[in-house]
Amino acid sequence: MRGIKAPDPSEVGLFYDRFAQLSAMADPEANLHFGYWDGPDDDASLPQAAARLTEIVIEKVRLGAGGHLLDVGCGIGGPGVHLAQTAGAEVTGVTVSQEQVKLANQRAAEAGVADRVRFELADAMKLPYAADSFDAAWALESIIHMPDRGQVLREMARVVRPGGRVVLTDFFERAPIPEYKRAAVETYYRETLLGPIVTLDDYPGLVREAGLMVDELIDISENVMRRTTQEASRLKQAVPAEVQQMHGDDPAFQFDPGDLTDVWEFGYLLVVAQRPRG
Ligand code: SAH
Repeated sequence: MRGIKAPDPSEVGLFYDRFAQLSAMADPEANLHFGYWDGPDDDASLPQAAARLTEIVIEKVRLGAGGHLLDVGCGIGGPGVHLAQTAGAEVTGVTVSQEQVKLANQRAAEAGVADRVRFELADAMKLPYAADSFDAAWALESIIHMPDRGQVLREMARVVRPGGRVVLTDFFERAPIPEYKRAAVETYYRETLLGPIVTLDDYPGLVREAGLMVDELIDISENVMRRTTQEASRLKQAVPAEVQQMHGDDPAFQFDPGDLTDVWEFGYLLVVAQRPRG
């Protein structure tokens, strides 16, 4: 697993360019990440559960009106626009996909928040912003693609003011993945252009070395992984013919998320950190 070659950000950009329209169609709230279910009786759909995960990250980032968020790996803008609408915050988002920049800015305009929300093309590994320019930063399921987590965390720590929060979600290895389950995870990593895999034990050091303090490190796999992979698999099997025609040959699209449903060793992590007040 650790031998997988990290993708280049420009390849990741082209990958998201290809799927930009489809992701906008798939979720009316424009969340491009896994879902969160409260428990077995929670019958939320995948888009509803993805919106719930956005709510959780919004709670953790604790920004109010006038606070300025950097959204690292902003996708098609759903989470950032939602924060602007619900908390009145200002948002700057970055992505490596030009198509996402377009759709995300369109979404901000349609939501009537374009005066305080903007999305730009930039690489999180070298953020084009001055030190201390944001009140908080989040990276919602985007650090998964990045070749060097330490570098991204240092960049987020640099641009967030002292006392500001850094919140992110990540995939991680909860326990060694047994040989017979590895093919599915490796295929997922290769086809969706994921960077190196980490364990929970890697995180305290990564966060501290970036100059941040850990507030919370929570394994939310039980609320996220099984249901997301089951739902995504079900939705994929039911895609309209025109989507199948457009994406059917794409190896990333051919991957069945249901292949990960029983890989409980592959987990989902919520990280809340803070830049010390100085
Ligand atoms: N956070 C969004 C999108 C998640 S998809 C959401 O939750 O809806 C992953 C996102 O990470 C994509 O927008 C992709 O362009 C972005 N990304 C991946 N590598 C990046 C990098 N090096 N710099 C900036 N963005 C990156």
